[in-house]
Amino acid sequence: MSEMLEATAADLGRLIASGETSAVEVTQAHLDRIAAVDEQVHAFLHVDTEGALATARTIDEARKRGESLGPLAGVPIGVKDVVTTKGIPTTCGSKILEGWVPPYDATIISRIRAAGLVMLGKTNMDEFAMGSSTEYSAYGPTYNPWDLTRIPGGSSGGSAAAIVAREIPLGIGTDTGGSIRQPAAVTGIVGVRPTYGGTSRYGIVAFSSSLDTPGPMARNVQDAALLHAIIAGHDPRDSTSIPAPVPPVVEAARLGATGDLTGVRVGLVREFGGDGAEPGVREAFDTAVESLVKLGVEVVEVSCPHFEYALAAYYLIAPSECSSNLARFDGVRYGLRVGDDGTRGLEEVMALTREAGFGPEVKRRLIIGTFALSSGYYDAYYGQAQKVRTLVTRDFTRAFEKVDVLVSPTTPTVAFPLGSRTDDPYQMYLADLYTIPMNLYGGPAISIPCGLSEGLPVGFHVMAPIMSDERMYRVAAALESELTPLPAPDLGRTGG
Ligand code: GLN
Repeated sequence: MSEMLEATAADLGRLIASGETSAVEVTQAHLDRIAAVDEQVHAFLHVDTEGALATARTIDEARKRGESLGPLAGVPIGVKDVVTTKGIPTTCGSKILEGWVPPYDATIISRIRAAGLVMLGKTNMDEFAMGSSTEYSAYGPTYNPWDLTRIPGGSSGGSAAAIVAREIPLGIGTDTGGSIRQPAAVTGIVGVRPTYGGTSRYGIVAFSSSLDTPGPMARNVQDAALLHAIIAGHDPRDSTSIPAPVPPVVEAARLGATGDLTGVRVGLVREFGGDGAEPGVREAFDTAVESLVKLGVEVVEVSCPHFEYALAAYYLIAPSECSSNLARFDGVRYGLRVGDDGTRGLEEVMALTREAGFGPEVKRRLIIGTFALSSGYYDAYYGQAQKVRTLVTRDFTRAFEKVDVLVSPTTPTVAFPLGSRTDDPYQMYLADLYTIPMNLYGGPAISIPCGLSEGLPVGFHVMAPIMSDERMYRVAAALESELTPLPAPDLGRTGG
């Protein structure tokens, strides 16, 4: 495999800025890699070959004119297909948006373009980001490069698989309940959910507006931090965007990489102990905690008694919000329209369009959400879930009075076999057992690889207080410096 495909994003940026290599060469190498392996992996829904090469040429020309380039200028990136991209199809993994070409860029895309990154295309995902395996994509699943018979996680499974398959060094995902961290964990990459409101939701097709958070995905902590710094920051177009400076994530990742965590207090959540995680995952996690101790941290056990209700609350709040958000897909404004032959009324056309355009998991959520919000049930379900959300938040606030960060395994299991959970939604939902509390609270969290179990990656999860994203970067970078990096997966492996 070419060295260019193995390089970090930071190194690629340096080589391009110094003229040792060109953005066009780097882009072409990654496009060639996509052409060679994506038939097996199916990480991409759309590859923008010409657009990417054109952007790369403008970067090379800017350098030749003597303009100074940013740290990631010319570096390829893939973007989850839930993010609107001007002139480039955006499907959200759904048939209902097939053929829709957005007339505008999401804020994070404008920032990515302004920083000179080269967008290679749009990556596969569970329909409207609902799922944990990318099997709910209407365009077929993505396959985990570590074992092509297994799921790459979801809903940002396309970006995760593409990054670990060396098709791209950087990606964008969105995390509503774990959709950046869980796929990162089961593919052995780094995935970050920034503080809610730390990255703009403008132009991110809404699933659950009070939870949705776009964030960076990469093969190492420093690269994730560099991308984080580019996409984060206040956006007046998003009313929930936080008007405060971006936490110093790049500096924190650098500081962490020096490998000293003396005085940092790390909390283990008592309620996350027990038999929630399978033994191989628990073992890799425990070994990583020992490494943190070697780096100087103090480990403290904390209790978060309401975390056990977080999953149930999430599965009322997220469906409720999506039942409202997805009402806009009515066959009139976007994409698909079914049955509009002059014989039917508006409501019938809407119903036929939604029946044909949405897949089973989206329909399940719309039904649950509509029910939970209906009068007479609102207080019993949605209202109750919001109270639980407050209690989970209180657990975090109290825990962070005692510790700087909390840690846990990212997922209870390694990547599971394709098809093994699609008929059992509850089993699918359990994949986010450890990630969902953080979404209810709104704080930042990162997953980094911490070894293999049965030959498959295990993720280590670090959670920090709201707007203290730098803390988790510091701890994650230090741990990363202590652990042996995972090798590139052998794409030939299947089964086992
Ligand atoms: N797996 C969770 C769900 O299905 C989380 C999804 C997400 O974070 N977008 O809702």
